[in-house]
Amino acid sequence: MGDDLFESYLGVDKSVVAKQVGNQIYVRNGSQSMLSDLVHEGTHMLDYNNSFGINGASTWHGKNRHIFMNDNFNSDRRQSRI
Ligand SMILES: [Zn+2]
Repeated sequence: MGDDLFESYLGVDKSVVAKQVGNQIYVRNGSQSMLSDLVHEGTHMLDYNNSFGINGASTWHGKNRHIFMNDNFNSDRRQSRI
């Protein structure tokens, strides 16, 4: 998905490289870490499918979930997965 469409469709800014919504995963074409992005978002999808999510936004999706996933979210990455 191209950057303009990615941002307008998902309502995110340029810092976001990947997002999970319901049973769909979106990753930017320009992602430098496509595989790990997919794994990250796939984990959220599993959460969603296990009913941890409400309206497609995982309740595990806060800081604690990213720590649990051993993610370096907001640490040394210029771009973020959400
Ligand atoms: Zn996430």
